[in-house]
Amino acid sequence: MKIKILGTAAAEGIPGIFCNCRICTHAREHGGKNIRTRSQSIINDKYLVDFPMDAYMHSLIHNINFHEIYHIIITHPHEDHFYPQDMEFRCPPYGHGNEERFLNVYGPGSIHQLFPNFPNDRNREYVKLHILKAFETYTVGDLQLTPMKALHARHFECFVYLIEHQGRKLLYGHDSGFFPQETMDYLKNHLVDCVLCDTTCGNNMDGSNHMGIRDVIQQREIMIEAGCADERTRFVLTHLSHNGGLTHAQLEQAAVEDGFLAAYDGFELEF
Ligand SMILES: [Zn+2]
Ligand SMILES: [Zn+2]
Ligand SMILES: [Zn+2]
Repeated sequence: MKIKILGTAAAEGIPGIFCNCRICTHAREHGGKNIRTRSQSIINDKYLVDFPMDAYMHSLIHNINFHEIYHIIITHPHEDHFYPQDMEFRCPPYGHGNEERFLNVYGPGSIHQLFPNFPNDRNREYVKLHILKAFETYTVGDLQLTPMKALHARHFECFVYLIEHQGRKLLYGHDSGFFPQETMDYLKNHLVDCVLCDTTCGNNMDGSNHMGIRDVIQQREIMIEAGCADERTRFVLTHLSHNGGLTHAQLEQAAVEDGFLAAYDGFELEF
């Protein structure tokens, strides 16, 4: 299983679109891995997870032809994870040659709740929305996909996902605070190979909506105790905010000290 993380920032990006704080100033001056765009990944070069407003830019930078993408898995409808306007450009006159296959979009019922007109009338022949139920397993192409409850945005449903391919297991763990008990109960039966961890809060702590590094350390202990992670499980820190107070070099140093991997835009891992 291969994952490439295309965007590793929280909602406002790093540097924050209008921000002049220490971390954003440092990011503008030093560029490189300090620049973080909004949250998105691609699995096995075929399956997108989330579709933020930076998706178009990701397609250009990483040379991904979205015409050839047929499955998009959405964690939750915050705009840094779900930006439906751009998906509506799949039909003519905006997009041509897409009539053969649907673009399948999978996610929680909150997508329909917040965007009742997605896909719009023009796009119903081009984009298909699949509303998923927590803790049911679905086949998506050659992946097995199980949505689980996240601890995030109380007024609508948000998912983290267990994604399986040929016996390999990825826990797509953001956006979320500490995983709810129901999610931990489900995960008990699964030793995962890789976990993407919400590290929005960086040096700070939260656990009720997002996590910081110390929360992730605690979450890892809970997972090891529950038998769903061991010393071989890779924990990847992603979804960073400037408010967490870390430059990329500082995140990397903390990751090395605590046995994590520090994500950056374009980070790849095979397992
Ligand atoms: Zn987010
Ligand atoms: Zn800032
Ligand atoms: Zn969110």
